[in-house]
Amino acid sequence: MTERIIPNHHIIEKLKLSNLAFEVDRVISVPVMKTHMYAGVTLSIKNMKGCLYQRDKTRLHRIKSNPPDIHKGKCLDYGICDLMKLLYPDYAILDATTCMEGFGPSGGTPVEMNMVISSHDALSVDLTAIQLMGMKPDAIAHLNLVREDRNLKIEDIHVHPVDFLKWSRKFRLASEQDLQQNYHNPSVVEKGACSACHAAMLQFFRYHHQEYENSPAVTIAFGGDLTAEDLHPADGSPVVLVGNCTAKFRNSTISWCKGCPPVPSQIVRTINAGKTLDD
Ligand code: SF4
Repeated sequence: MTERIIPNHHIIEKLKLSNLAFEVDRVISVPVMKTHMYAGVTLSIKNMKGCLYQRDKTRLHRIKSNPPDIHKGKCLDYGICDLMKLLYPDYAILDATTCMEGFGPSGGTPVEMNMVISSHDALSVDLTAIQLMGMKPDAIAHLNLVREDRNLKIEDIHVHPVDFLKWSRKFRLASEQDLQQNYHNPSVVEKGACSACHAAMLQFFRYHHQEYENSPAVTIAFGGDLTAEDLHPADGSPVVLVGNCTAKFRNSTISWCKGCPPVPSQIVRTINAGKTLDD
């Protein structure tokens, strides 16, 4: 592990990364083309988060301060931009053979594109890729921030073949609101949770919602800003606390699911057990 200070950082002063990324001759980013429910897309720039060390991988999802300019991006977007000041890949090869749309990066559906996009400039690869995914070149906040830092203009990117957009396809995006409008049990109370816990809840609803359609009402509460009043929902349903942030209330409800972020299958086990599990 190596801890590096980020020069001229936007939001993160330093990050822990794998040593290996700084020992090799060249760093090549080889992502799969995917939508991402928080970053918009996960391509060769965001793929570099894989070089972060252990819990620093989720740290960019847990930044509690305000972003420098909310109109330009969220904390996660600025965090990815800061990572690029430390570890910008030397080359990018984007696997766009079988891609993912919808609830990416892990809950989406496959899309066959049968393409590979490569360049010595990772940002150019990503900006080309999002156009092939049916987006405008300025649609993705973290790419805009990196582009601003590196002073890259869209018109300076030359793609071969020039008529590449004839292979574009509109990728379906997803938002958390889509899920919560569709599923009414469990109910959710959230205050101050970071994007890692939101992502876990999205996965929970996507894969397990059907198990609760005809079950007694239950409320899931998560986030570090919950108060004691939040543990008494109007419908009187039992409350299951989710995530280490809520541990301070663990003796006030029927059950608590640990994890930072929690694992969706463990949330299921905790709800079904109706008590806090030890493992
Ligand atoms: S418990 Fe959830 S909300 Fe709290 S820091 Fe961990 S992932 Fe974020």
